[in-house]
Amino acid sequence: MVDKAEWVAGWVAVNSLRWQYARDKWIKFKGTDKLAKYVLLILVTLFAIQLVRGVRRIKNSRRDSEVTKENMIVCDYCHVHFPQSEKVVFQGRVFCSKDHQREFNG
Ligand SMILES: [Zn+2]
Repeated sequence: MVDKAEWVAGWVAVNSLRWQYARDKWIKFKGTDKLAKYVLLILVTLFAIQLVRGVRRIKNSRRDSEVTKENMIVCDYCHVHFPQSEKVVFQGRVFCSKDHQREFNG
């Protein structure tokens, strides 16, 4: 039966470069203070969130991404956000549709 320390030594020799790299990273990480670790954790979390959002954006249809790129404005009647190109202007007020323009003035 192979001695455990022998086995570890062999493993370390095989993974020498990778092991050294990981150990250096760990020593560096251990050397940083608690606050820095929390900041790192938050940054990693934010990065993960951005990644998920990015994937979702890619999954959206092309039409949807074009709409989100457009300036969004608020309907004076229903207060819904909608793309500027669909606006109906009447007496200086902006509406999402002719129906809401009529409802507002009627
Ligand atoms: Zn509306």
